[in-house]
Order: sequence, then C-alpha cells, then structure tokens
Amino acid sequence: MRIRRRALFAWAAGLIVGCGGDGDDGAVITISTPSGSSLLTTPTVAPTSAPPPEIVTSADSIFQAGASVVSVIGDLSAGTITFLNRTYQLTKGARSYFAVIPADADDPVGTHPMKVDFVLKNGSKGSMPYQLTIRKTTWTVDAITVGPQLAPLLDPKVTASELALLRGVYSRYTPEKLWDGPWVLPVGGDITTRFGEERSYNGAPVSGHHSGTDLGAAAGTPVGATNAGRVAMARQVQLRGNMVIIDHGGGLFSGYAHMSSFAVAEGEMVAQGDPLGFVGSTGLSTGAHLHWEMSAGGVLVDPYRFTDGSNGF
Ligand SMILES: [Zn+2]
Repeated sequence: MRIRRRALFAWAAGLIVGCGGDGDDGAVITISTPSGSSLLTTPTVAPTSAPPPEIVTSADSIFQAGASVVSVIGDLSAGTITFLNRTYQLTKGARSYFAVIPADADDPVGTHPMKVDFVLKNGSKGSMPYQLTIRKTTWTVDAITVGPQLAPLLDPKVTASELALLRGVYSRYTPEKLWDGPWVLPVGGDITTRFGEERSYNGAPVSGHHSGTDLGAAAGTPVGATNAGRVAMARQVQLRGNMVIIDHGGGLFSGYAHMSSFAVAEGEMVAQGDPLGFVGSTGLSTGAHLHWEMSAGGVLVDPYRFTDGSNGF
C-alpha cells in the first residue's frame, strides 16, 4: 500500500503539481486513500484501451465551509461529481478535468461518499467511487445592535429576496477556468468577522451563518479581485450595498460588498488584483469594511480558506 501510494504520488506529481495543476498553481496535492481502497478500486467502465481515470484532490479532509479541488486525470470528454446529493460539472482545465467541491456550513461532519461520473473520448462512460471527510468548524457567535435607520433591513423578506438574487448569480456555470494561481486577499487588514458567525440582531434569536469574511480597511481603500475572472454583477443591493461578483469559471464566484463605489462594470474581464471598487459602508453595515464572499457550485464557503492553506491549496 505504501509503495503504491508513493508511486502514484510521483506519477500524479509529474502530471499535476509539476505542471501547476488545473485546480490551482502551487497546490499541495494529496493522493486519495481515504478508505485505503479507492485508488485500488477499478472504475466501472466499458472495455476500452484507454487507461482508467485517476482522482487527485487538494484535500481529502475539509472543514465545514471549506472546499477541495478534485481533479480527474484521464482521457475524458465530460463528467460530473456528486457529493452529498449535490452534483457539480467537471470543467476542462489545461491537463485534467476538475471541480471545486464545497462543504456547506451545515453539512454533517464525517466521511461521505463521492461519485465521479465520466465520459471518455472514445464515448464509453463510467463512474468511480471516492470519499471526502468533512471536519467540524466552530462558529463564532455575536450579538449585533442596529439603529432604527437600518432596522428595516432586518425584515426576513429583504434577506430572502437578496439571497434569491445572489443564488441566481452564484448558480451560474461557466464551462472554462478563468482563474489562475493562488488566491489573494482583496484588501489588507485584519478579519473583523469570520465566515459562518452566528448572529443575533437587536436581541432576536441567533440564526444563520455570516455569509462571508469581513476585512477591516479604511473607507476608500481599493478592493482588488482575489483572482482573475469576469464581472458577473456590479450593482447596489439592499443588505450588501454596492456589490461586485466575479465569475472565476467552473461554478466558482467571489463577491465584494458594502463598497462606496464601483471601478468595474458587468461583463468586464479582470486580472488578479484589479480594482473592483472601494471600501465603504453601504447596505446593512455599521462601519467601513469589506464583506468578502465565495461561492463554489452554488454553496457559500469561507473565502479565507482559499488563502490560509486549509483547503489544501
Ligand atoms: Zn460581512
């Protein structure tokens, strides 16, 4: 088993790590042996001369609201990955197909089956089993008081309507990889509120999860794109104020909220670090900061985990 793991690692490293990978440049790739058997499982595929695909992940064990880049290496022409009853398209990268598989904040902790369905270039279809483990994230809890001016924004109808609007954007799928290399913070500054915080507003019961990471920065500080992509949305919404959403392709999006003004318009392509707007306090905000979101396959995940190495990339 050890020998096989090493041999496969060397093989995969040559294909993926050495080439920068499709999930992320500089990715720390681990090879899957979550059950001790998945690498040795023969895929159910029609007889073919093509070698069976292999699965390589950035991490086999991710935190709630984390994500793993799952690459499928082989002679593929298409495929999907199903995990916890959610199905994600495989996107063609430079040298493999891949999907960023998210763990929702409320997904159950434990080891769960994952299934890769694929179509080979010769037309034959197959599927491969795999496993990902979700680890517990401990959420912070906070009580927040908002004044009468902002209180109308606490109406659940406002929240529901904005979530529906954002879901419409975050559920889009662009079948190409637009980002490249490691992810960076959109502004310098400390985290003032973590992703997932459970909040009580004006004494109401604690509910939900904070949908992004808040970074403290002075009003007017330029907000840079955390990675390359296309501007999918640049408009004012009620809770998040002036918000830009970047489509990074493959179902991956980043959002930047409460900005004072915009520096881009919808449809524009941006490179990593390009200014999208400026730190402000528009919408449901009690002081200048950047609210930064990430969505993978329609699931909101912790953006900070794209920069701190805990997703394995
Ligand atoms: Zn926030």
